[in-house]
Amino acid sequence: MTIRSFNPPIRTLMGPGPSDINPRVLQAMGRPTIGHLDPQFIVMMDELKVLLQNAFQTKNELTMPVSAPGSAGMESCFVNLVQPGDEVIIARNGVFGTRMEQNVLRTGGKAIMVDDEWGHPCDPNKIEEALKANPNASVVAFVHAETSTGASSDAKTITQLAHNHDCLTIVDTVTSLGGSELQVDEWNLDAVYSGSQKCLSCTPGLSPVTFSDRAVDRIKNRKHPVQSWFLDLNLVMGYWGAGAKRSYHHTAPVNSLYALHESLVILSEEGLEASWKRHRTNHRALRVGLESMGIQFQVAPDYRLPQLNAVVIPDGVEDAAVRKALLQEYNLEIGGGLGSGAGKVWRIGLMGHASNETNVLTCLGALDAVLGDMGASFERGKAVASAREYYASI
Ligand code: PLP
Repeated sequence: MTIRSFNPPIRTLMGPGPSDINPRVLQAMGRPTIGHLDPQFIVMMDELKVLLQNAFQTKNELTMPVSAPGSAGMESCFVNLVQPGDEVIIARNGVFGTRMEQNVLRTGGKAIMVDDEWGHPCDPNKIEEALKANPNASVVAFVHAETSTGASSDAKTITQLAHNHDCLTIVDTVTSLGGSELQVDEWNLDAVYSGSQKCLSCTPGLSPVTFSDRAVDRIKNRKHPVQSWFLDLNLVMGYWGAGAKRSYHHTAPVNSLYALHESLVILSEEGLEASWKRHRTNHRALRVGLESMGIQFQVAPDYRLPQLNAVVIPDGVEDAAVRKALLQEYNLEIGGGLGSGAGKVWRIGLMGHASNETNVLTCLGALDAVLGDMGASFERGKAVASAREYYASI
């Protein structure tokens, strides 16, 4: 058997991530590889830190990309901030809260779960009750933008409550960074991780993180060594930290970092607020189109993420058949439900570069055709017309 070069099809990525990548990012990735200790590369790293600080809206010195996907950013936060025996309150309203629980258990910590219904935000009142009931807790962890359900939570209020009880926060912003408002300094968040492949529209495999001085102090004063050599920030700081000698820790993914740099340059050229606004606009257009077909959103309007639209699959419609037809006939990827949402919801992403008018109209047109062919009852053609009308009205 001869194995030849892999040439993937060109898809439109409107699932929960990865999202469509701006061609500028792919071009940046193809630039010549240089050594990861090359003086020119160090200049690029310094710029990358500044660009990430802007995206996170922080002055935190310890702001950098972990050389691995969002799950590694998550793990960096937990292994560095949680020690054996520590109590961690985890607000769970979807799949990623459970992954946080797994992280805490593997550090030898105790996970105190505060559950909310999927599709709802994390309830600050319940978190406050848990803080009162567990005075030894040292960390509160939650997901700012739950990709499994499309719900956002109030990171500022939750962090304020945590600080009132001497806890630090670990905040998952994998889906929010670049797509909806995130203010690390103004909201006083402590350990924050994200992913490159969603609203930054970069290649998958990097996890931007940022740590407040409070978090850095705690990491520097740990009693137990961090169980993971690779993710031990005390060591990583020698490469990425303030005034660091940029000494060898691991071989940085040089070309992927060019890609992240380019995606952040694109974000800063557009402006953060303009990016958040674009995400809201395209979400609204998609919403009027879907609602005109009788498709309902899973999350209440106040907590809906514009970049992740979780909608209820209409009765009698077969989830897998629709997604297969969209992929095969339209090269269009939308996401199925995760966990308890499997088979019940679709997750339509409008993330980063993929959040644009063409994608909204393509998705509505394709759904109209596929669902229509399957005999679903709705007025054909209305979805695209309603979205067009919305765009014309703004
Ligand atoms: N947290 C959230 C909210 C996510 O959506 C994801 C991925 O979809 C992750 C964590 C894990 O990121 P990765 O798949 O890049 O490891």
